[in-house]
Amino acid sequence: MTSGAFTGEGAPPSPDPTRTDQGGAGATSRQEAVLAALAAGILGPAYDPAVPGRMLEILGGTANRRDRERLLGGLRALDTRAGALALTGHPAPVSGRPPAAAETLMARWAGSRLPPLRQLADAIGPVALLAAYGWPGPARDATGYPGPLGPAPDVPRRLHPLVPDGDLELACDVVVVGSGAGGGVVAAELARAGLDVVVLEKGGYAAERDFTHQEGDAYRDLYLYGSTLTTDDLGCRILAGSTLGGGTVVNYSTSFPTPPTVLAEWAAVSGVDAFVSGEVAASLDAVAARLGVTDTQSRPAVRDRLLEQGLARLGWHVAPLPRNVRGCPQDAGCGWCGFGCRAGAKQSTLVTYLEEAEAAGARLVTGADARRVLVEPLQGGGRAGRATGVEARTAAGHRLVVRARAVVAAAGAIETPALLLRSGLGGQVGRHLRLHPGTAAVGVFDEPVRWWEGTLQARYSAQLRQWLGPYAPMFETVPAHPGVAAVALPWRSAADHRAMMERSANLSLVGVLGRDEGAGRVRVDRAGDPVVRWRLGDTDRARLVAGVLSAGEVLAAAGATEVFSLQRRRPGFRPGDAQGLRDWRTAVRQAGYGPGRATLFSYHQMGSCRIGTDPAASAVGPDHRSHEVDGLYVADASLFPTASGVNPMLSVMALAHRAAAKLAAHLA
Ligand SMILES: Cc1cc2nc3c(=O)[nH]c(=O)nc-3n(C[C@H](O)[C@H](O)[C@H](O)COP(=O)(O)OP(=O)(O)OC[C@H]3O[C@@H](n4cnc5c(N)ncnc54)[C@H](O)[C@@H]3O)c2cc1C
Repeated sequence: MTSGAFTGEGAPPSPDPTRTDQGGAGATSRQEAVLAALAAGILGPAYDPAVPGRMLEILGGTANRRDRERLLGGLRALDTRAGALALTGHPAPVSGRPPAAAETLMARWAGSRLPPLRQLADAIGPVALLAAYGWPGPARDATGYPGPLGPAPDVPRRLHPLVPDGDLELACDVVVVGSGAGGGVVAAELARAGLDVVVLEKGGYAAERDFTHQEGDAYRDLYLYGSTLTTDDLGCRILAGSTLGGGTVVNYSTSFPTPPTVLAEWAAVSGVDAFVSGEVAASLDAVAARLGVTDTQSRPAVRDRLLEQGLARLGWHVAPLPRNVRGCPQDAGCGWCGFGCRAGAKQSTLVTYLEEAEAAGARLVTGADARRVLVEPLQGGGRAGRATGVEARTAAGHRLVVRARAVVAAAGAIETPALLLRSGLGGQVGRHLRLHPGTAAVGVFDEPVRWWEGTLQARYSAQLRQWLGPYAPMFETVPAHPGVAAVALPWRSAADHRAMMERSANLSLVGVLGRDEGAGRVRVDRAGDPVVRWRLGDTDRARLVAGVLSAGEVLAAAGATEVFSLQRRRPGFRPGDAQGLRDWRTAVRQAGYGPGRATLFSYHQMGSCRIGTDPAASAVGPDHRSHEVDGLYVADASLFPTASGVNPMLSVMALAHRAAAKLAAHLA
């Protein structure tokens, strides 16, 4: 058998062997052939020939070039006799193996005690599932999912970002890196204060008319690193927006003010009095008013109605979610709003603060990836240097330099520390990262739920906080489209996974949103790419397990015929079977939520450049200015002293609102 050719019985057709570079990952046709063989094993009859090419495209977006190279190296090895022997115990190159053999291999890797093998499964499995279910094709078509509901509306774009077509140098008062919850607010407030502002956004500009609502395309075009970012042990998938408007464009519109107990905790941890003096509260009021936060446009989708029913039957806390929407249709189509709101109802920074910023003269630049803050050495004054601008790389590979009197880092809690570390800062930068690890209990219902449709999030419960304290998880639901559902639903075998996906219209979930007390850290590797180290500590794990067990009770009370957790072995029970419930509880506790045992999801990254009075415990001072570099400010979720414990957007915006006031005063 020659390596690189599919000779096994029933093996998928080989990609063109004369091609040497296929797809964004820079892989060879032989590596694509290995992916094809493995994908055929993972997907069984749900496989289609478009999958390996899409896998390469997804892998091309990986945050960390070193990881990508390592994975591609592994694929190359799997197509040699020696590599195949080492990694599979059998010398036959993997590309020639039939789907059944590849399926056995994936199952063995997934259950392996050896981290490198388990990580191969964790690195390849989700990519194959997303590639198969994130776009139309036989896999997705069998789920009953309708795909995008019609075309995007033909409405004009309202912003006019610059897209440099050559090297460029700009000058301004303030350059803001990032245009999301923090960057959008800070840009508008500073421009309104009369300052000349340039906003650099590494994503593109997509408005209502551009939201295709094709799930896989949306992750590629609107999410950070095409939604491939994970912690370095692959234990937690990290989702963040990366487009003009950042997370506010793709997020689920839940708009909690920072709870008073959290503000008090933040004041105590940071030493910053503004958290309790009324200053941050005033900023919270200001941003909530601008976004039209309301709980009168929270009509529940079926999944939220079931959440509410289950909670009500148990006598547990349930309440409507406040949302930042104006004229929200709250209909079935709203479930696609995580891929951009076509109605323009979600009050993202795209339709609020960035419009105001531009109207006040701010220049927006898209496709501009800030690589480093330009720092000039300073003699005396307590800081090592002074920020004089930012150097960025454009999507087309050009160099963009923006000279400025001040720099605001608002690139989100992964990318802001990465930018600062690339710029030579150290200290507390990157430390104290919080992720709000999320998982869910899933229920099977007789009635159709279509968990992808309806208002994004409309109900929540803080019941566990009453029992377990302020670090207990909350319950919310999320819209589950087939791509993300396929990744979240544990893969045990091709047939089992496919059967579950085919039932997905009748699945519902109770999301368990953890508040992590333990912390992780963002570092950069030699290429300057972010590396996220974060582990679920014992206490946080125990709280998450308690959350999943209670979420299972909610689903049972709501009428589920079967309930299971998202752990690798997918333990479950049938409501009414008391012994089954006891066994499930034991199984959930025993399985835990470590890497290889379950995949966690983070929609909220926070705390990695935190604010505080003490430079030994924080990255920026009470006025949001870096302890190390003058003229450098932070205005995003990185600032949080600890996890917010509620969905963070409004807290981010309030802190950015305050940061703008401080900076405007400094520059006056
Ligand atoms: C799917 C999803 C659903 C969510 N739902 C909710 C919700 O319902 N309620 C809630 O409160 N929160 C929600 N969140 C979280 C919320 O959106 C974020 O906490 C918030 O947007 C963070 O604000 P930020 O300013 O820190 O970063 P972001 O809003 O993420 O903005 C950072 C921006 O910086 C850009 N950037 C990064 N690096 C660079 C660079 N080097 N150069 C230039 N630009 C760069 C990014 O592309 C991005 O656009 C959700 C998040 C996701 C992903």
